Amino acid sequence: MGSGNAIRGSRVGAGPMGEAERGEAAPRVRVSFWCANMHETRPSFASDAAIPETWDCPRCGLPAGQDETAPPAPPKNEPYKTHLAYVKERRSDKDGKAILEEALERLRNNKSPW
Ligand SMILES: [Zn+2]
Repeated sequence: MGSGNAIRGSRVGAGPMGEAERGEAAPRVRVSFWCANMHETRPSFASDAAIPETWDCPRCGLPAGQDETAPPAPPKNEPYKTHLAYVKERRSDKDGKAILEEALERLRNNKSPW
């Protein structure tokens, strides 16, 4: 019985060469963003990545947009925002207060003999 299956078996061992090269050559795109101070930032993104609408300016921290002529308005720490933040905080403030009061009461009860 001389079977001849030697030729087929010789292909075993062909490694997955070339797989590692993927990624290194991924094309990147550069997108310009301008902040309200007209600082231009050009971060690069993988071409298949989602490009954000705004980008924080690394120089002044303001949000920068892709439209040079209409950069996003800088957020101002003025009454309006403070008010918003205040409204938001009130919620957790309430919880925090309740927790604080509970803790205070417990403290008082523990220390009452003193
Ligand atoms: Zn800037």
